[in-house]
Amino acid sequence: MTDIIKLLPESLANQIAAGEVVQRPASVVKELLENAIDADATEIILNIKEAGKSQIQVIDNGKGMSETDARMSFERHATSKISKTEDLFNITTMGFRGEALASIAAVAQIELKTKTAADELAAFICIEGSQLKEQTLISSAKGTSMSVKNLFYNVPARRNFLKSNPVEFSHIQDEFIRIALANPGVAFSFYHNHEDVFILSSSKLANRIFALLGNQLKTNLAPCKEETELMKVQGYIGKPAAARKRRGDQYFFVNDRFIKNAYLNHAVSEAYQGLIPADSYPMYVLFLYIDPIHIDINVHPTKTEIKFDDEKTVYKIVNSAVRKAISNFNISEGMDFSESVNHNVFANFTPQQNSFGNEIQESLKSSSKFEPSTDQRFSSKANLENWESLYKDLKSETKNRPTEIEQNIELRFESAANVESREVNKLSSNGFEEAIIFQIHNSYIIRQVRSGILIIDQQAAHERVLYDKFSNTLEQNFGASQQFLFPISLQLSPSDFNLVIELEAELHALGFSFGIFGENAIVINGIPAEIKAGNEIELFEGFLQQYKHYKSDLKLSVNEGLARSIAKRSAIKKGQKLNIEEMTALVEQLLSSNQPSFAPDGKSTLISYDLKKLGDLFGA
Ligand code: ADP
Ligand code: MG
Repeated sequence: MTDIIKLLPESLANQIAAGEVVQRPASVVKELLENAIDADATEIILNIKEAGKSQIQVIDNGKGMSETDARMSFERHATSKISKTEDLFNITTMGFRGEALASIAAVAQIELKTKTAADELAAFICIEGSQLKEQTLISSAKGTSMSVKNLFYNVPARRNFLKSNPVEFSHIQDEFIRIALANPGVAFSFYHNHEDVFILSSSKLANRIFALLGNQLKTNLAPCKEETELMKVQGYIGKPAAARKRRGDQYFFVNDRFIKNAYLNHAVSEAYQGLIPADSYPMYVLFLYIDPIHIDINVHPTKTEIKFDDEKTVYKIVNSAVRKAISNFNISEGMDFSESVNHNVFANFTPQQNSFGNEIQESLKSSSKFEPSTDQRFSSKANLENWESLYKDLKSETKNRPTEIEQNIELRFESAANVESREVNKLSSNGFEEAIIFQIHNSYIIRQVRSGILIIDQQAAHERVLYDKFSNTLEQNFGASQQFLFPISLQLSPSDFNLVIELEAELHALGFSFGIFGENAIVINGIPAEIKAGNEIELFEGFLQQYKHYKSDLKLSVNEGLARSIAKRSAIKKGQKLNIEEMTALVEQLLSSNQPSFAPDGKSTLISYDLKKLGDLFGA
């Protein structure tokens, strides 16, 4: 039998490894910037063209490489940063796998120019698809210039997979911001197609934050500091007033490396509970310093995820550091609670907006205690089995209902705090099925139907109704717009701005009308007709945020993501009082949907109860 196992050629192995390290131009930017930082550069220039697709160049004034090192740096597992196993556990530099340059070289054309202080001349190296094309000595200043051209030129599938320039650019910008935040002492210049994006001089962290995230933070930052035996926390948090409807400005760095960690993010948000609206996100830039022995950074090839060996303690430290920072500036601004009181407030607080909902959930749960032990669970989807027959009744009812009765009912409900059964009966005795509809806790609509009742979650129901409308609008490519008398200007983060430009056609189709208004700003002239006017800015920002979330977490298509986000963000919320007309319209629209029982995210919109089930609850 012939042997069939072969070793992969080195260049192919590198290309495969590249798949892990180099996903898009932003990955190259990250690796090159990190290498420059590791080389102790104090000045770094990032030059990109066409969102990094045609060129990414990083120039630094760091320690440079000798000619041999310059050539070696492109070999896989070539690194100056690890030489023995123990080093793996003691890494403080950014790179450590020695994979980045080899991976990039496998899928691009690279020109490297580098010189150490000790060498007279600089090494110049050209590499294409892992093949050395040229190597000579030239004269140059100390430091390194690495130019990566035509990324994925030899992997068409990956090149085609790249997103539009605004999207790729915004990824690059995200990476740049993370690295620039983590290294405020380093001066950075960032150019895109020869235009400057950020020019940052060496500065203190706070100034770096203002320069990158906006000057409006100047009055809204509070220092955060905590030191324990296990770790040190330092940085800044945004005061509650700086909380935004979009999740953008949240940064954690562990040993100066940007990381994502939902658990730690929760530790921060939890400290803000009750101080900011439930759907807002606090701003923070926090640096954690911890002995590398307590973390495992190698869980993810691009190293933005890390594991702590004692996650719970880390959570507590971060949470208490943030609480302390919040209460410090509250005291300094003369607010009326001491630190210890403050902690009690936090402990007992549930955000206003949700408390109704929670109460209801609780009472619904407890009511199920009385249920017979059959599978008639109050909130379970099994309840929906026979909602359709209820719905049929309702449809015929709403058609025949005379308007006097409707008004009659409205009056009665307004005058009586409790619905008296006698009155209800009187109505039903006049020959029509009574259109009994009312709202409880400004959150749920109860609708009597011939054979029982429907309980409708107003928020979920409205989401369904809006989602149907907007999906339809996007499909037809035309949405009615209500124009403002006074246009509203809106300053966006650069990445949100790019997103808006990218989605321009779809946003117009939805009914948004807007134009570009200076750098990263738009002016909104009109919004979809379906949306209630008021809070347009919040709505728009929240909508973008939601869309990004759906796009990245759920990988929804553009249209699906848009329809779902706008429905979610503009739907009536729990806690909002509705009048009879609004309730009636909402229920009718819901019931004429093709999918009335679920909101687009799968949450139930209605629960039905027939009289028998109600009777059963009372043990009848
Ligand atoms: P790693 O950073 O994980 O060591 P890389 O592939 O990113 O691996 O880089 C390989 C090596 O090349 C580094 O260990 C470093 O010695 C050298 N190197 C890369 N970029 C630079 C730079 N800008 N200045 C000096 N040395 C560099
Ligand atoms: Mg590296």
